[in-house]
Amino acid sequence: MMHSMKGKRGLVMGVANDRSIAWGIAKALHDAGAELAFSYQGEAFAKRVEPLAQSLGSDILMDVDVTDDASIEAAFERLSKRWPTIDFVVHAIAFSDKTELSGRFLNTTRPNFKHSMDISVYSFIEVARRAYPLMKEQGGTMLTLTYQGSNRVVPNYNVMGVAKAALEATTRYLANDLGPDKIRVNAISPGPMKTLAGAAIGGARKTFRHTEENAPMRANATLEAIGGTAVYLASDAGACTTGEVIRVDGGYHVLGMPQPENL
Ligand code: NAD
Repeated sequence: MMHSMKGKRGLVMGVANDRSIAWGIAKALHDAGAELAFSYQGEAFAKRVEPLAQSLGSDILMDVDVTDDASIEAAFERLSKRWPTIDFVVHAIAFSDKTELSGRFLNTTRPNFKHSMDISVYSFIEVARRAYPLMKEQGGTMLTLTYQGSNRVVPNYNVMGVAKAALEATTRYLANDLGPDKIRVNAISPGPMKTLAGAAIGGARKTFRHTEENAPMRANATLEAIGGTAVYLASDAGACTTGEVIRVDGGYHVLGMPQPENL
C-alpha cells in the first residue's frame, strides 16, 4: 500500500508539461492523499500547467522565476495566506544554456556557469528559506532532483554535473540546519528521462538507450517510480531519512562497465 499523505499539503515547483518529473511526483503525492499547490515558469507554461493542476484538484498556481527573489517571496506570501503551514516542497528545477550541454566541459563560460548555478542550485536554498517558516512548527520535507553526473563524468552533462554536485552538498547542509526542526531534506537521483530539460543534453537519446540496455534492471526510471520515491520521502515512512541522495535508475550507478552483451 502507498504510504499516506492524507492531511498533508505542499508546493510542487517545476512542472512544465505532463512529462516533467515534477508532474510524476505531483500525481503520486496526490494519489497518496496530499493537497497540492504548483509553481511554473512564465506565461508560456501556464496553459499547459493549469489543466494539469486542475486535474489534481489544485487551484493554487503561481508564476515563479527562481532567479528573481521577489518572485519567490511573492509566491510564498500568497501560499501562506491560503495555507499557514505546509508539509513539503518539491524543487524540480534546473537550467543551463543548451549550447554548453554538449562538447567539452573545458569550454564552460563564466556567464553560463553563474546562471546554471543560480537556477539549479541557489534557488533550492532560497526556496528552503521561504518554506522554513511554514514548516518549522510541525516539521516537513524538502525534495530536490539530481543526477549521477554529479559524481561521475557523463559526457555532455558538463556544467550541469558541477551544479548537481553543489546541489547534493546543498541538500546535506540544509538537512543539518533544519534537522532540529524535524524538517528533512533529500534529493532523488533518477536515471535519464525524456523531458524538456533532458532533451537539451547532447546525445540524450543515446544516453537513454544505453541506460536501458545496461542497467541491472534493463529499464529506465519511470515517472511512477520517481513519484513513489517522493511519497516515501515526504511521508512518515521516510521519517528518519535526511541529507540523502536516493537513486531511481534501475541500478545503473552500480556498474563498472557495460553488460557483456553490449561490449
Ligand atoms: P522539465 O523541463 O520538465 O523541468 C525543468 C523545470 O525547470 C521546468 O518546469 C522549467 O520551467 C523549470 N525552470 C527552469 N528555469 C527556471 C526558472 N528560472 N524559474 C523557474 N523555473 C525554472 O525537466 P525535468 O527533467 O522534469 O527536470 C526536473 C529536474 O529533474 C531538474 O532538476 C533536472 O535536472 C532533474 N533531472 C532530470 C533528469 C532527466 O533525465 N530528465 C534526470 C535526473 C534529474
